[in-house]
Amino acid sequence: MTSEIENFIRRLPKAELHLHLEGTILPTTLVELSARHDGRALTLREAEALYQFRDFTGFIEAFKAVTRRLRDPEDYELAAWRMMQRLAAQGVVHAEVYISVGVIYMWRKHDPACFEPIFAGLERARERAARELNLSLYWIFDAVRHFSVAEAERVFRKAAEMRAAYPSVIAIGLGGDERLAGSAAFHALYTNAAQAGLRLTNHAGETTGPEAIWEALAIGSERIGHALSAIQDPVLIEELKQRNIAMEMNPSSNVRTGVCASFTGHPLRRCFDRGLLVTINSDDPAFFASDLANEYLLAHTQQGFSGDELRQLAANSIRASFLPEAAKANWLDRIETTVA
Ligand SMILES: [Zn+2]
Repeated sequence: MTSEIENFIRRLPKAELHLHLEGTILPTTLVELSARHDGRALTLREAEALYQFRDFTGFIEAFKAVTRRLRDPEDYELAAWRMMQRLAAQGVVHAEVYISVGVIYMWRKHDPACFEPIFAGLERARERAARELNLSLYWIFDAVRHFSVAEAERVFRKAAEMRAAYPSVIAIGLGGDERLAGSAAFHALYTNAAQAGLRLTNHAGETTGPEAIWEALAIGSERIGHALSAIQDPVLIEELKQRNIAMEMNPSSNVRTGVCASFTGHPLRRCFDRGLLVTINSDDPAFFASDLANEYLLAHTQQGFSGDELRQLAANSIRASFLPEAAKANWLDRIETTVA
C-alpha cells in the first residue's frame, strides 16, 4: 500500500539532475540487449549477478558490462524510452541526463561517424517523451576524466558542434575515476565549452577529498556531482553557499559504492541545513536498486525530512536545473501549491 508521504512525493513536480542513461538499464533490459548482440545471451540470473558489486571498482566493472551491450541506435532508443517512462511515473517533470559519449567513442575506436545515428535514436525517445509523457529532457555529454584530455576534448567539441543544432544538448560533464584524474587539466576545455554556450557540470568529491571540489570550481564548474566530501571543509561550504553552486547529491549511490557508510550518516542533511543548494538524485538507479522517488522517501525516513523540506528539495532541483527562467517559475509555482 502506498503511504501518504509516497503519494505526496510522486505528486511533487521535481527534476532529476544527476542520472546516467547507462545506469538506468535494468537487468531485464540488459538480457534483451544481450539477446541482440551476444553469441550466447545472458540469462536473467547472470544479468542480475552483474549488479551485485561490493565496491566502487566492482561498480565500474558492472557499468562497463552494460555499456558494452549498447551498440545500435535502437539500443539507445530503447534504453532512453524505458528510462523516461520510469521518470514520468515518479512525477519527474524534467531531467538532465548524462550520456557517456567518451565511452561510446572508445568502444568505436573514435569513428567520427559513430555518434550521430546513436544521438538520433536518443532524440526519438526524447521527442516521444515530450509528446506522450509531458517530460522535458536535456542531454549532458560526459567525458571519462581518466582516459585523457585529448579524448575529453573530442567529446566536448562534439557537444559544442551539436549544441548549435540541438537545443537539447545543454551541458558537458566529467565522470570516471577521480582517484586517477582531477579537473585542473581540463580548464581550457571547460572555458571553450562555456564559450560555445554549454553549461558546465563536474563529478567531484565522490571518492576524493574537498580539494577535488575546489579544483572543479576553479575550472568553472557550475554544478558539482556528488560533492560528498564538501562537508569536511567549512571554508568550501561557505564558498559553495556564497556562489550558490548546486550540489547534485546521490545518497544511495554513495552508500552502495561504499564511499558513505549509511544513508542516515550522509551529509545531505547537514548540507541542506546549512542552506546550500542541495539536490538529491539517483545517479545509476538500476545499479543501486533505487530511483528518485525512493531517494526522497529515504530522505524522509532516514534523515527526517518533513513534507515542507521535501518540497524545498524539489524546488532546489528546479532552481539548479538548466531550464529557462520562465519554465522554472512555472514549476516552482506548481511545487508551492502541491498539497502534502
Ligand atoms: Zn554520476
